[in-house]
Amino acid sequence: MDRRSLLAIGAGAVAGPLIAATSHAAGPHCRLLRPGDPGYAAEVAPFDLAQIPAPGLVVAAETATDVRYAVRLASRRGAPIAVLATGHQPSVPIGPDAILVSTRALRGVTVDARRRVARVEAGVRWQEVVDRAAAYGLAPLNGSSGTVGVVGYTLGGGLSPTLGRRFGYAADHVRAIDVVTADGCLTTVTPDADPGLFFGLRGGKSNFGLVTAIEFALFPVTGFYGGALYYDGAHARTVLHAYRKWIRTVPDAMSSSVALQNLPDAGDVPAPLRGRPTVAVRIAWTGSPAEGVALVRPLRAIAPPVLDAVSDQPYTAFGAIHADPVTPVPAVERTALLGELTADTVDALLATAGPGTGSPIAVTEIRHLGGALACPPRHPNAVAQRDAAFTLFMVGMAGPDQAAAVRSAEAAVIDRLRPWCTGGLFPNFLSIADTDPDVVRRAYPPEVYRRLRLLKRRVDPGNLFRLNHNIPPA
Ligand SMILES: Cc1cc2nc3c(=O)[nH]c(=O)nc-3n(C[C@H](O)[C@H](O)[C@H](O)COP(=O)(O)OP(=O)(O)OC[C@H]3O[C@@H](n4cnc5c(N)ncnc54)[C@H](O)[C@@H]3O)c2cc1C
Repeated sequence: MDRRSLLAIGAGAVAGPLIAATSHAAGPHCRLLRPGDPGYAAEVAPFDLAQIPAPGLVVAAETATDVRYAVRLASRRGAPIAVLATGHQPSVPIGPDAILVSTRALRGVTVDARRRVARVEAGVRWQEVVDRAAAYGLAPLNGSSGTVGVVGYTLGGGLSPTLGRRFGYAADHVRAIDVVTADGCLTTVTPDADPGLFFGLRGGKSNFGLVTAIEFALFPVTGFYGGALYYDGAHARTVLHAYRKWIRTVPDAMSSSVALQNLPDAGDVPAPLRGRPTVAVRIAWTGSPAEGVALVRPLRAIAPPVLDAVSDQPYTAFGAIHADPVTPVPAVERTALLGELTADTVDALLATAGPGTGSPIAVTEIRHLGGALACPPRHPNAVAQRDAAFTLFMVGMAGPDQAAAVRSAEAAVIDRLRPWCTGGLFPNFLSIADTDPDVVRRAYPPEVYRRLRLLKRRVDPGNLFRLNHNIPPA
């Protein structure tokens, strides 16, 4: 967009006299896109198609300077500012009054093998970091999907289904964060440089600024014994009860989850899982393969799996464990944290989401927490629901016609499981259903929430960063 076009934004919903007064020299050197511009639709396209952002202006940032420009512009205009990396986690709608910073072009990755540290810019996705670190025999605390953004994931805690129980949350191992705060300043935040902001950013997502790069620890892990054991839905009761007993026997280094699945009869779903209820037990063991085989033996004995995809694998194959969708889908999600998984919890889950209930929920996952995830980190952060023993996460792949049915099925599961819910929520699993600030506050214990609201008052008193799961200023 040239200067004349930039000035023309002044007539639009986002820009006003302040933009007209902005010289091109002071402006960004990246693309600025308005609705209808070539490239606009591609730049706002999210992974989760349930909500398509429709901002009045997109700043397709290529440098931290572009991000500063966008934040200053939004601040002067009083326009809310949003950030989009991959679009895996929609929250509130992003409308024509908003400026959206797309971080897709911020793609720098550096691995320092000697220090076992990676530095990653805001548009980078997990698979790239895992691949780059693997060349040095190292691994990050990545999530289940290689297409998820590193920065968004880490700012929401970062619950690794491969290494979480062994090393803790990804947020616990962040060394430094480059962030543009609401005043338009770019600061490097560390445990020593602004510890208050360092605390809040790790768990508070985009409430305190727009992160341009992040530095975090890598671990000497080159492979895992794991994958998923899939059973026919007819065995769901046996499998879930066996799983809840099995997890009591496993070491901390064993990460796992169990999921009731109703996958579509579609080409990219493996044939034995298509169009029928199945149960998946997902496993990641990073000790010796021989120990892994022994630990998994009781699971293989529960019932004959319809698909046994557990084996010794290079760490770069982590995405096969959960086999999340890799192409954009409209998702309807709900979540909760559970304090325990008793026989009654399992029966309640089966009664609402199990085979034979006609549930439209595609995946109902219970993920095992504990281990290092329950330990306080060396530098405290806002990932603070560490007493929870499990996450519950449900997702239905639902277009507008089916969304209401999925929403009500998920609500019914939460209602039925309420006796075992802690009342807390995990920031990364918050969905469109969780945007009310009174719901968001449940992602933090009361004392942490108070601290976050005070931090918000200090760094973003006008709540410029409000197009998210918002923490309003105190
Ligand atoms: C298939 C799938 C698998 C997942 N697996 C896991 C998992 O195993 N463990 C886990 O913990 N989570 C998991 N998640 C949740 C995921 O971590 C969150 O959805 C995360 O927010 C995605 O970040 P993103 O940048 O990819 O998405 P976006 O939708 O682009 O961003 C989501 C939010 O992250 C914040 N954010 C992103 N970039 C920045 C930035 N530069 N500065 C400040 N804030 C920013 C903003 O609040 C933004 O609204 C999964 C999600 C999906 C869809």
